[in-house]
Amino acid sequence: MQLPDFDQFEPLLELRRQMDARKLGHFELFDPALHLTGEERSRLENQGIAITLSQLRILPDMTLAVKNGRVVVFEQMYEKGKKQHFHVALCPKLEMSADFGSPQVPLVATTCLHSPFPVLNHQKRRSLSVCPDCLAMLGYKGFSLTRNRRIRYSEQLLRYFELTDFFKVYTLYPIRNLTLSVKKELLHETVNEPASGRRRRRVSDQ
Ligand SMILES: [Zn+2]
Repeated sequence: MQLPDFDQFEPLLELRRQMDARKLGHFELFDPALHLTGEERSRLENQGIAITLSQLRILPDMTLAVKNGRVVVFEQMYEKGKKQHFHVALCPKLEMSADFGSPQVPLVATTCLHSPFPVLNHQKRRSLSVCPDCLAMLGYKGFSLTRNRRIRYSEQLLRYFELTDFFKVYTLYPIRNLTLSVKKELLHETVNEPASGRRRRRVSDQ
C-alpha cells in the first residue's frame, strides 16, 4: 500500500501554517538510565522501590525524584507508637535521618497517592501523614508553623493535605523541563497563593 506523502498534502500543510508549526515534531529518545520504564512506574505505584538517600535525585526545587518522575519517600524501619511521616522534599528531618543513622538508611520511594502506602513486598501497608518540615521548607501554599498568623491555616492545610493537589503544583511525571516548571510554580504561588515567609523575605531583601 502506498502511503500519501503528507509533506505535500495541502490540508495538512495549511493546518501547520495556521498553527505556525514550521518544524517537525521533537522526539526524545527513550534512555532507561534517565527515563522510568513502564515496569518501574507500576512498581513505584503499587509496591514502592527500596532506595537510599544517596540514590535519590534531589531536584533544584528540593523535591525528590527517581529518574524523570517525582516520588515521596519514607523510612523502611519505624518506631512503634511514633507518628510516621512521608517526605515530599529533602527536608532537615530526612537529611538528619541519613546523617545520624547511616547515609544508606533504607527508604521506600513510591508514587502511591493515598495513605496507607505500600511497603515493598510486605502485606501490610503503612498509614503515614505528610511531613510538616517538607511543607514548611517548600513554603507549600504559604505553609508555616512558626508564623503566628499562619498557624491555624497551616494546621488545616496539614490535616487536609492531598498528594493529588501537591502533584498539581509539582508535576509527578514526566519531569521534562524542570527550570520551566519551577518558574511556573513560583509564578503560580506569587499570583494565587500567599508567598512563604522565606520567599517574602527574599523579595524584601531586593
Ligand atoms: Zn520531610
